[in-house]
Parts: sequence; structure tokens; C-alpha cells
Amino acid sequence: MTGLNIGFIGLGNMGAPMAANLAKAGHAVRGYDVAGTTAEGVTVAEDIAGAVTGADVVITMLPNGTILRDVAAEAIGHMRSGATFIDCSTVDVESARNTAEAAEKAGLLWVDAPVSGGIGGAAGGTLTFMAGGSDAAFAAAAPLFDIMGQKAVHCGEAGAGQAAKICNNMILGATMIATCEAFALADKLGLDRQKMFDVVSTSSGYSWSMNAYCPAPGVGPTSPADNDYKPGFAAELMLKDLWLSQQAAALVDADTPMGALAQKLYAQFVEDEDGRGKDFSAMLPRFEARSRED
Ligand code: NAD
Repeated sequence: MTGLNIGFIGLGNMGAPMAANLAKAGHAVRGYDVAGTTAEGVTVAEDIAGAVTGADVVITMLPNGTILRDVAAEAIGHMRSGATFIDCSTVDVESARNTAEAAEKAGLLWVDAPVSGGIGGAAGGTLTFMAGGSDAAFAAAAPLFDIMGQKAVHCGEAGAGQAAKICNNMILGATMIATCEAFALADKLGLDRQKMFDVVSTSSGYSWSMNAYCPAPGVGPTSPADNDYKPGFAAELMLKDLWLSQQAAALVDADTPMGALAQKLYAQFVEDEDGRGKDFSAMLPRFEARSRED
């Protein structure tokens, strides 16, 4: 499907390459970002109204739920009935559900579709989308997911995409910490890191953190560890997702002690240590430098 009119709001690290891929695929994309950024093949609009008026589809890729609510409050009033609103930002489940309700009240189709895959996935069109919304809304969004990504899972009703994202990243945060502390322990036990990788990556301790994104430099596949821990996926973004997971857990009274501890450790790393701006796998040098008493 080509030739859709798409309004794209939030042309940051993720949004700009996603919008560029839609334009490259033959869609007419009008973009708006409060910082004045742009993207290849995208026509810059002066404001939100200019980007979304008359659009068949509006996509947002914004920093958080508060900004999403503000942007949506403005955008929805200018969108035509029957158009589709796709939010690809990572936000709290409540903001997703509230915005979905406002969109549906205005006669729009709504999909929350946070992504996994990072900046590389956005540039390469290989993101994974976790989508929440009606069957009709998902069907309307699916051809665009095919352009911007390699996989889209319809997780359920509005908010289900955000729920899937924060559960996934809660597992990721906890397993990355477990993998890093195990490497640091192995070091102190005199175990060679390559041997540690060879065993764990083919044994029951394996995980995406170990096998696909190994936090030890020079071991396993190429990862941010091999590039001085430049992100990749920044520690502060992991902290944001862990914070969202704990906010959601509190809301529904779910007991998530590992998620809570992962949030605490990433908060310490980002706010009190030197973790800000580093990849989230830089937990390994952090553990390496510490003792039990620290
Ligand atoms: P970013 O900060 O680079 O981009 C966000 C953009 O939104 C900025 O350019 C900002 O100017 C713009 N913006 C803010 N307020 C606005 C407003 N009122 N109107 C218009 N534009 C506005 O962030 P990013 O890395 O592109 O991430 C975007 C979202 O994707 C976040 O929710 C993030 O959690 C999620 N995400 C990021 C990654 C990643 O690796 N960067 C991976 C997965 C998910």
C-alpha cells in the first residue's frame, strides 16, 4: 500500500529514520518536531495541526506519556474521523489507555505500538512492534509496521502493547544485571571470560543479554561492549522502562521484586555513578570495580 498521507510527530533518534522509511516507501509524510528536526523525504510542518490535518494516519514517537497526552489532545481535534492514530513511543499504560479512549471517542482507530530494536532497527526498518488496539486498527496499521519493522505482534486491546513492552524490558533489565554480576564473579574466581561465554551461551544460563548482546568486550557477537559501551540502548532508557514497569506493577498490585531491584540499581548507576550516556550493558565494568561492601 502506497500513497497514504501520514503525519509524523516526534522526529528524534527513532522517529526521524522511521518517518524517512515511510517516505522512501512512497507515502506522503508531513513531519513535526518541537525541536525543528527533520527527516529525509519528509515535508516539515509548522505545527501539529499542519502535520495531521487531512492525514490518513498519524504516528507519534515522543519521549513520555505526559508529552503524548498533550500532543494527542491537540492532534485529535484536527484529525478526520476514520483516520488511524499510531503511538510508537514507550509510555505508561494509563497514558496509552486514556489517549486511546480520547481517540476512539473522536471516531479514530487507535494503536499503541511501542518498539524493540533501537536506533539501528529504526534505521534499517527492522523494528519489532508490540501493538494494542482493535482488530480494525491493527489491520490499518499493519502495512506501515511492515515498512518500519520486521515483526508486529497484536497483543490485545489498547494498552496491551505498552504492557508487553514493559514486561519484556523488565526481564531484559534483570537478566542484563544478572549476566554482568555473574561475569564479575567469574573474573574473581579466575574463570576466563571466553570460557564463561562458551559455557553459559550454550547452557541454562543463556539469554539474549549473554548470547546476542554480550556485555564483555571481545567475547561473543559484536556489541556495545566492543565500542567502549557507547549506546546501543542507553542506561537511562532502560531506567525509564524499569520505572514504567514498577509504576504499572504498583497500579495493579503485582509483586515484582526483581524488577524493583533492577530499577534501583539502574537508578544508582545513572543518577549517582557514571552510567548516564553509557550502554545499559556497562553494568559489567560497574560490578567489576565493586566489592561486596560497596
Ligand atoms: P528522542 O528524544 O531522540 O526523540 C523524541 C523527539 O520528540 C525529540 O526530537 C523531541 O524534540 C520531540 N518532541 C518532544 N516534545 C514534542 C512535542 N510536544 N511536539 C513535537 N515533538 C516533540 O527519543 P527517541 O530515542 O527517538 O525515543 C522516542 C521514544 O521511543 C521514547 O518513548 C523511547 O523510550 C522509545 N524507544 C527508544 C529507543 C532507543 O533506542 N532510542 C528504543 C525503543 C524505544
